[in-house]
Amino acid sequence: MNRAKFPFQTMLEYKPFSTGLQLAALLLAFFLVFNGSCDGDGNDNPPDAGLYHTYAELDNDLHALATTHPQIAQVSSIGKSVEGRELWAIKISDNVNAQENETEVVFLGGHHAREWISIDVPYLIAQHLLDEYGSNPQITALVDNAEIWIVPMVNPDGHQYSVTAQRLWRKNRRNNGDGTFGVDLNRNYSYQWGGPGSSGDTYSEIYRGPSAFSEPETQAVRDFLQAHPPRALISYHSFSQLVLYPWGYTNNASPQHGLLDSLAVAIANRIRDVHGQTYIPEQASDLYLASGDTGDWLLGVLSVPGFTIELRPRSSVPGFELPENQIQPTFEENLPAALFLMEWAIAQGNVTL
Ligand SMILES: [Zn+2]
Repeated sequence: MNRAKFPFQTMLEYKPFSTGLQLAALLLAFFLVFNGSCDGDGNDNPPDAGLYHTYAELDNDLHALATTHPQIAQVSSIGKSVEGRELWAIKISDNVNAQENETEVVFLGGHHAREWISIDVPYLIAQHLLDEYGSNPQITALVDNAEIWIVPMVNPDGHQYSVTAQRLWRKNRRNNGDGTFGVDLNRNYSYQWGGPGSSGDTYSEIYRGPSAFSEPETQAVRDFLQAHPPRALISYHSFSQLVLYPWGYTNNASPQHGLLDSLAVAIANRIRDVHGQTYIPEQASDLYLASGDTGDWLLGVLSVPGFTIELRPRSSVPGFELPENQIQPTFEENLPAALFLMEWAIAQGNVTL
């Protein structure tokens, strides 16, 4: 820390305190400076996640994208978090202000607070679609023929806490009323809620909440998806490099297992083709049983194929703390997979699973 930043340093050296008030002012100044710079959440410095987006940066950048692409991008909030943050969605389509009878495709990120890359990948997909529209024929056709919705940060409170207080925080910031905080949003969806791979203990990392859809964040996603039933969805998480499909609550195969598996294989192949990274396609329960997640609810209630892509890295070192220089390649390898799923969804039209 640079001592020259403290103007009262000279006062301390050259002039003894003449009054108690002066001493009190000095102590207060020290408190403010050290408190502000040590907890990382002071009013003097905004939260900083390096090249990763913080909530405030995402808010700013999503609105900037919509401002610079007003014909094809629109930002709206699908609801609020426990602490009152907006859950921002960006819609990308031609005639974006109209609800057209086009295939809807949804990309979600940031259910889990510490999985920072899961926010930047869908954000960068949105940015890419907007930048390439009108010059890249594939992307122009996708934007013209689909209503693409991207909700990069489903859990802004948890993310903020991960940035400012506890890097490896996972859940949202619900006050459970017993000294613990947080519900695992990816165990809070209603289909098979309360089953294996979730916990009723409030302190657990996989605490499912007191009831299905108890959390405003999952309520908002539910209401949004029911209002805009997509033909396909990807929910980004990290880490392990996997392409997961339902079911998660049971090892049994779903009736749509064949289709889901072939799509997951196609997604994984497109990812590998970019930088040679292997993402293993498998049923979610092959990783571990998990009840109440997004994909099971989508398939079980809405009959929508939804995939959970566990992004880089492959293993627990570096685990959730993926170095910044891997943001761009992780986006690059996931872009063709996202485009593929959009094209598949458009080709399906109104075919029901
Ligand atoms: Zn996750």
